[in-house]
Order: sequence, then structure tokens, then C-alpha cells
Amino acid sequence: MNTYYESENELNLNKIWQESLEEIAKKVSAISYDVWIKSLEVVDLKNNTLVLSTSSNSGKQTILKNYKDIIAASVNKVHKAIIDVEIIVSSDPEEEEDEQPVVQKTIKPVSKTVESSSFNPKYTFDTFVVGPSNQFVVAAAKSVAENPGASFNPLFIYGGVGLGKTHLLHAIGNYITDSNPKLKVVYAPIDKFTGELTEALRNSKNGIISEFKAKYSTADVLIMDDIQSMIGREATQNEFFNIFNELHEHGKQIVVASDRPVSELKQLAERITSRLAWGILADIGYPELETRIAILNKKAYLERYNVSREVINYIAESVTTNVREMEGMLTRVVFYAKMMGQSVVTMDTAREALKDIAVQNAETIDAGRIIDCVCKFYSIKKEELLGKRRTKEIALARQITMYLITELLSMPLEAVGQIFNKDHSTVIYAKRQIANECKTNRKLAVEINDMKQMLNGK
Ligand code: ADP
Ligand code: MG
Repeated sequence: MNTYYESENELNLNKIWQESLEEIAKKVSAISYDVWIKSLEVVDLKNNTLVLSTSSNSGKQTILKNYKDIIAASVNKVHKAIIDVEIIVSSDPEEEEDEQPVVQKTIKPVSKTVESSSFNPKYTFDTFVVGPSNQFVVAAAKSVAENPGASFNPLFIYGGVGLGKTHLLHAIGNYITDSNPKLKVVYAPIDKFTGELTEALRNSKNGIISEFKAKYSTADVLIMDDIQSMIGREATQNEFFNIFNELHEHGKQIVVASDRPVSELKQLAERITSRLAWGILADIGYPELETRIAILNKKAYLERYNVSREVINYIAESVTTNVREMEGMLTRVVFYAKMMGQSVVTMDTAREALKDIAVQNAETIDAGRIIDCVCKFYSIKKEELLGKRRTKEIALARQITMYLITELLSMPLEAVGQIFNKDHSTVIYAKRQIANECKTNRKLAVEINDMKQMLNGK
């Protein structure tokens, strides 16, 4: 008996879907599964096509682009008669119109209370490349975007300059305004907040700043960028504190970003830093080479740049600690090639365009500094690190050093091996080992990130 049939003619769609989910889970990452797949609902089966619904249009677009084929193949594997899937948005008025023309259309809010224009449409989760250095923060950001106020509150994102904090804040904002248009999302970099506050105080009667207060304290989601700029600004800190309390008390979502971790924001009032630590702290690290290449490929694709893999690799190897700078180099190279009348960027042009920058980079960090840094970080002697002893700690520190050298410098693997009297295969192994370990071991990932920051003089 075929268990997919409840009665003679009725297919048990839910059962098929549950088994398909198991198949899909084998093929997509755990995060993708949680964010995009798990929440899909089976709606119908129409002419051998399984109809699934998702809650937002942006979700639908992502699923169509990235997961539809996997979903269709998995469903087909479970039940041969189903050959395709269709994704609809659960409250999509157009879809409803098709099916039930008499039913009243879902009413969309007439005037959005959201300042939707404040979010850059280019900064979405789709355009953000995920790698070991940022997968934790991306998962946290998606979780907050999907369930504002319900998961991590506040979400505190920190990381060095140009590593994607603002991009992620906008991605959260874009996602919520899309999927939950009734929510009031307020976004402000601290400088803007301070500017508005100053203006309000200047125009206030008896120090009452009701309009300013009304804007911020009625937010369902408050997103504040660059909060390190609150340092030294008493009035800003005061207002932020009041608004924070009011919103948090009412279960409203708060998201902040800073280029310093809480522990380094010591100059802020303690009552603020302690509140920021209530929720979750998620750091963005420096992206690994592989992620940097993926970011450049994505950018080249989005901007329709015609750039070879060789040039992409060259740029990714030259800039290691700032994605904005790296993107700037790509733009520069493409611009340079255009000026030279080339439709495809050649390696010579790339080298020429980036001559000064590459030199600058090579001067600042070398293998010796990396070795010193690791020794200092783990309190071991240089002779031990470079010697033959194989205690667990020293072996690990050695692998970390090899990893950092390959990440931060474009040195041939043989030369890296020679430093340790090893051949290049040991270096490749160390590199892979540490990269893998960082995916699951957050302590190590943070330590490595700290060392990179130290090496970059931060
Ligand atoms: P921050 O606010 O941390 O200084 P931004 O968010 O402004 O950095 O990011 C700088 C640039 O780098 C932006 O153009 C952003 O889109 C890009 N960027 C950073 N990280 C990524 C990533 N993982 N994937 C795609 N683009 C990224
Ligand atoms: Mg920023």
C-alpha cells in the first residue's frame, strides 16, 4: 500500500512534504534550511506541481533563485508524480485574486509609517556573502529580522571598519519593511540621532522635545548605527538610554552596531554598556580569502563587470581587512581598464592600477610580525613556536601562525613552510584545519580575529 494516499484519491501532501524536507536538509546549509525552507507551507497540488507558500515576497524571490531546483528535485525523489514546485506568498493579493476573485483583497497600509527610503535597496541578505567570519552574525540578524522583538534583544553587532555592519543593518530593515509593512522601523546612525536631538532641544519650549521623542519611542524596531559615536556626548547617551528602556520594556526590537566591542566602549555610561550586553553580541570578523573572492565575484556580477578569475584572486589577496577597500580596488581596476579601452580587465592592468596599494600592504605586515603576535597572544616563546616540540598548545599555535600568514600575506606556500622547516603540504593542512575549526569553535574564531586586529594596529 502506498502511504502517500490517505484515501483512494487523496494524496497526503503533508507527509510528502515532511519527507521532502529531510531530503532538502541534506542539500542546503543548516542556516538556509532554518531561514528559508523550514517555514514553507504546503498549500496545494496543481497539475503535478506542488504549491508552497512563504510569508514574504523577498523570501519568495530568494527561494526561487537559490532553492527552487533543490526543492523540486527533492519532492520528485519522494513522490515521482510531482515534477515541479510553485512558490506563492501567503498573503499575496494577486495570488488570491486568481483563486477567489470575489474575496476582498488584503488591504495594504495606505501610508507606511516606515521610513522605507532610509534603507539602501542594494543592502539585503541576498547580496551579503556568508562565510565563517560572519555566519554567526548573519544568522542572528536573520533571526531578528524574521521575529523582531522575539529572539535577541538587543542585537549588538560589532566589527572593524568596512566589514559589513551597515550592510547588515539595512538588510534587517529591508527584510522587515518587506515582510511586515505594518511595523514602524526607525533607522539612524548616531550622528543623525544627535543632530535631530540638538535641533529638537534648540526648538524646544522648556526643554520638552515631544516630536523627537515621538519618532523614536514609537518604533517597533529601532536600528542604530555607529553607536561608538555616542562617546563624549552626554545628551545623546541620556536620550538613548531613555528610549532604549522604553522600547525594551515593551518588547520592541533594538539593533545597534559599533566598530568597538562593548568591553571597549568603556567611555560610555555603564548603564548603557550593561544594557547593550543584555541581548546578544555578534562580531563580524575579517573575511577569509575564500569569502573575499566570493564577495568580489558577487559584486562583479551585480555591477556587470567583466573581470577574470585571476584578477579577482589578485585583489582578494591584496586586501585582507576591509571589504569596502577591497570593493574600491575592484572598481578602480575596472575603471582603469575602461580608460585603457579594454573590455576585459587584464592582469597587467590590474597590477598597474593597484601598484601603490599593494606596496603599502606589503610594508605593514610581514611573517615576523605575525609570529611575534601569535607568541605574545598565547604567551609562548618564539623558539618554541619555530622549534620541533609538539605539545598540543604549541602545535595549534604553529598552525594558527601558518594560517594567519597565508591569510594576510601573499607568500608562496613553500616559503611559509620553510619558516617552520616543513613542506608546503603541512601549510595547506594547517590552513584547512584552522579554517574548519573556526567554523565551529567560536573562541578560536574570536582569538584569530583579535590577532588580525592587533596586526592591523587596532
Ligand atoms: P561597515 O558598516 O562595517 O563599516 P559596510 O556595511 O559599509 O561596513 O560595508 C562596506 C562595503 O562592503 C559595503 O559595500 C558592503 O556591501 C560590502 N560588504 C561587506 N561585507 C560584505 C559581504 N559579506 N558580502 C557582500 N558585501 C559585503
Ligand atoms: Mg558602517
